[in-house]
Amino acid sequence: MQWCVLLKYGELALKGRNRWRFEETLLRNLTNTLADLDGVRIRRRHGVLLVQGAPLPTLLERAQLVLGVALVNPAVLVKPDMAAIEKTAVELLRDKRDVTFAVRPRRRWKGFEARSQEIAIRVGDRIRTELGLKVDLTHPDVELGIEVDRYEALLYTEKLPGQGGLPVGVNGRAITLLSGGFDSPVAAYRAMRRGLSTDFIHFSGMPFTGPQSVYKAYALASQLDRFRGGGSRLWVISFGNAQRSLATAGAGKLQVLAQRRLMVRVASRLGARIGAQAVVTGDSLGQVSSQTLPNLVAVEAAAELPVLRPLLGWDKTEIVAEAERIGTAEISKLPDEDCCTLFASPLAETRADVAELEKIESRLELDPLIDDLIAAAKLHELGTQRDRTVSGATSGAASDTASGAA
Ligand code: ATP
Ligand code: MG
Repeated sequence: MQWCVLLKYGELALKGRNRWRFEETLLRNLTNTLADLDGVRIRRRHGVLLVQGAPLPTLLERAQLVLGVALVNPAVLVKPDMAAIEKTAVELLRDKRDVTFAVRPRRRWKGFEARSQEIAIRVGDRIRTELGLKVDLTHPDVELGIEVDRYEALLYTEKLPGQGGLPVGVNGRAITLLSGGFDSPVAAYRAMRRGLSTDFIHFSGMPFTGPQSVYKAYALASQLDRFRGGGSRLWVISFGNAQRSLATAGAGKLQVLAQRRLMVRVASRLGARIGAQAVVTGDSLGQVSSQTLPNLVAVEAAAELPVLRPLLGWDKTEIVAEAERIGTAEISKLPDEDCCTLFASPLAETRADVAELEKIESRLELDPLIDDLIAAAKLHELGTQRDRTVSGATSGAASDTASGAA
């Protein structure tokens, strides 16, 4: 039997131009996801994609990762004629014992010799007589899907869930503040799942901390990159000295918030250079003292791009469960030195006063500080095929803008 993978996407909300963009983007991301496998062929049929040419388990695993794919069916490919379809149908169900079944045909090619109803009856009869199985059209144990196209027919009994959502890239570009915790990777995933293409930016406490948090951010970004098939970028900012400057300027109880404001400033400015239209964070309202509403407002006031918070209404248990599901929890659990706690006062402010924060910031030369942080950023480009590290953020950002960030 010749196996392939049949991919389906939720077509309901897709009309006109949107649909075209969706399909083009999905096809590109899927192609990238499979780029390291030799001999893979992707074919496009009306509303579905057909993939073959590599071991089935590999194809299934990859297809289940790609955002925008709703269903993944391992399917057998046969010639589009009734004799071949009937024979394969019997083969597919041969090892099933005492189950009820239903045949669910779909004739995409209207020139086929039999109509859907007739396909169902003829295939159903063959299975009943040869295998002795019973038909149950409402609650079958096994559903046999049959889809007929011009040049092939596809048969399958298994439907695996895809990631769902929209393909990364159909809904603009952002930059995600990625820490080593549980929340921000999940926030990035939820934003990506709505079609947002995102770069990642991580602030390490270096030189006052070790590189562990950077390794974690890199591992998290790589994990997230799998949902789009490569092309993510991680910007790493050594933040320790800037944090110390804020402490020296007398930030005191406002240290964490002053740091967070500087983070969104840096992310906004870098984001604007790379064509991002928003900053994404893992904030969840009231989760910790830095995430009270007044504090979120005070941080947002410093941002030059809109701040998106996909997890605003999520509980920690929901976030951790999602982190387990998408495979970031294992990485987030690893110990690291979080830069936020460096220089932080044990008395964290829960009701930030923006005027007071501005006073502290006025003791620093903020503008050149932001530029220096960005100029010293380290860029890591992630992908299934190439992982390379480029230092000197400004050149990377400039060339990206020049080539028109997709
Ligand atoms: P997380 O689990 O994502 O670390 P958290 O519950 O620890 O979140 P905070 O530490 O208050 O919450 O951080 C809130 C958000 O600020 C994070 O979700 C992340 O988007 C951003 N952030 C915090 N620290 C960093 C960092 N070192 N680098 C980049 N972004 C950060
Ligand atoms: Mg954190």
